Order: sequence, then C-alpha cells, then structure tokens
Amino acid sequence: GATIGILGGGQLGRMLSVAAARLGFKTHIYEPGANPPAADVAHACTTAAYDDTAALTAFAQSVDVITYEFENIPTEALDILEAIKPIHPNREALRISQDRLTEKDFLTGLGLNTAPYADIPDADALDAALVTIGTPSILKTRRFGYDGKGQARLKSDADAAQAITDMAGAPALLEGFVDFTIEVSVIAARSASGDVACYDPGENVHRDGILHTTTVPASLPASARTDAVLLAARILNALDYVGVMGVELFVTPTGLIVNEIAPRVHNSGHWTQNGCAVDQFEQHIRAVAGWPLGDGQRHSDVVMENLIGHDMDRVPELAAAPDTALHLYGKAETKPGRKMGHVNRITR
Ligand code: ATP
Ligand code: MG
Ligand code: MG
Repeated sequence: GATIGILGGGQLGRMLSVAAARLGFKTHIYEPGANPPAADVAHACTTAAYDDTAALTAFAQSVDVITYEFENIPTEALDILEAIKPIHPNREALRISQDRLTEKDFLTGLGLNTAPYADIPDADALDAALVTIGTPSILKTRRFGYDGKGQARLKSDADAAQAITDMAGAPALLEGFVDFTIEVSVIAARSASGDVACYDPGENVHRDGILHTTTVPASLPASARTDAVLLAARILNALDYVGVMGVELFVTPTGLIVNEIAPRVHNSGHWTQNGCAVDQFEQHIRAVAGWPLGDGQRHSDVVMENLIGHDMDRVPELAAAPDTALHLYGKAETKPGRKMGHVNRITR
C-alpha cells in the first residue's frame, strides 16, 4: 500500500494514522517534539525540526502524498516538501488559514458574513478601530492562536491598553463581538474529483476557550442546517480543496456568521467516529489518497465531550458506561488544559 506523510504528531495525526491503517495505508509522521501521540500507531516517525532540510527531503521521498494535522507549517518547509511530493489540502488553503486577516478577507470576498474586523498593527490602529467596531470586541493575534489563546476581550475602551500589552507586539485583529445564539461547525470534505460531502452540523460549547462538547443534531432549523452546509461547500470549492475542513459558525437571528476555518480534521468532528459509517479521519485519508468520499450520513445522535487534564480521572467510570465510546490519545503526562482524549456518548 501507499504511504501517507502526516505533518504533526498530535492526537489528530494519531487518529488519521489509525484511519489510514484501516484502509491499508502506512503513515509516516513528521514531528519536532519527542514521543508524539501519533508515533505509537504510525509506521514511521521522523523527529526533526521544520528547518531541517535533509530530514524534510528524506521524509517527502519516503511517502506518496503529504497532509498535515495543523496549519502553522513554515512556508520554507512547505517549499521543500512540495517540490518532491503533492501536499493536500493545498498551499492556498494553508496560506489563507494561517492568518486571521487573510482568512477574513477571503471569506468576505466570497460574500460570506464574518464579525466586523480590522487589522491592528499597533495601538493607534486599535484606537481607530474602537471608533468603528466599538465594544464589546475581541483582539486576536493574527497568527498561531488556538484554544482561545492569544485573545483579549474588550468590554470597554478602557481595556484597550491592557489588550495591546497582552498581544506583546504580535500583529493582531480586532473583531466585533457576535451575539450568537449557538455555535455550530460543519465538517466538510472534498475529493480530488471535486465531490463535496458535509457532515451534519454539530453544536459546540466552549469552556475556558477550549471546546467542551459537540452535540449532534444541533438545535438548528432545517433551513439553517442547509445554509451551513452550502456555505461550507462554497469555501471548499473556491479553494479547489482536497481533504477535510472544519468550518466554525456563529448562529444569529439574522443568519450564519463564519468564525474561522481550519484546513484539517477538527476537534468538533470527533463525534463522527461513532455517529457515521465513515468518520472525518477516514474521509480525509480517502480524499488525500485520491479515493472517492465515503458515506458520512449520521446514523446516531452523539454527544462528544473532550477529556481535558484531570477529566482523565473519570476514565474508569466512563469505561463502564453504556453507549459510550472512549478515545484516549496515550499522552504520557496529564496537564491542566491538555486534551487527553474524548468520549462519544450515543444518545439515540
Ligand atoms: P480554536 O481552538 O477553535 O482554533 P481559536 O483560539 O482560534 O480557537 P476562536 O475560534 O477565534 O479561537 O475563538 C474561540 C471562541 O471564542 C469561539 O469559539 C467563540 O466562543 C468565542 N469567540 C471568538 N470570536 C468571537 C466573536 N467575534 N464574537 C463572539 N464570540 C467569539
Ligand atoms: Mg482557531
Ligand atoms: Mg475556533
């Protein structure tokens, strides 16, 4: 069988590797950190930095196609890899999603709605943006933010100085606060031949900036469900995208607002492992391997809950619970805020 190269050895890379193995593929992980969760279940793992030209070259030569589990891969590394083997999803999807400003410009350019936003290179720009966008609003770093890190909330103009200090000189974006009713996400997939398949939207609840639960079906009217899926398909088609993407949406009384997109399998898609015949990980592997997409129809209602830090203490109890599937990542050390696993509870 062919070998799929995966940049990043976290839990997403691990679950991609498991899905790939089920289809007869081998995976080769590339990860700078020691003992990554994906290494246990992959055929090979290269431990090297993203500026190691020799290691990147050898990695690309050893695989048939390259994908990734996180979006912050340095451009120089991508240049080296792409000269040797194809990368899916493509460079354009990565370029756009690596920077919140580029991403918002892209989305609004497609005619989609986002929160009002402004580029904030410095404190003066923030003062100006507070006139147009106002408060409440959120200052976010343009790059490298995840799990709500690199964000400062502004309740009033008086919070501006502290918010700028929190950014520590990093380029940022001010976003107007969206008064949403619920948050949902669409996990969407597109094959090399251009077929698009979307999973049923999941309803997301965050705690301390980290995804806590995803519930399917979401409490959405059928029309909004269709809107969400069509909107996601529009994004994938515009990018000539191959693979799975997570599209995070705010639901408001006046329609859907796109929060952000992630060009990879997504935490809010973990429910598909026990809610669908073909889950998001297999769907992604199928797409990057040039296979047709599988059946992502939802056959069960599911509540996915992330197990974070000492939620792991509940594992014995969860292991004994009915209609409950545990997915643990095999991380050696439990730390507060660290995603250790998740549980999919089938509710119907
Ligand atoms: P992720 O881990 O999903 O990549 P992130 O660090 O990129 O998260 P965002 O998704 O931008 O962060 O924001 C985290 C959460 O904060 C959102 O899911 C939402 O609950 C809230 N939030 C972010 N932006 C806004 C906004 N403009 N208006 C209202 N709430 C927001
Ligand atoms: Mg994000
Ligand atoms: Mg998010």
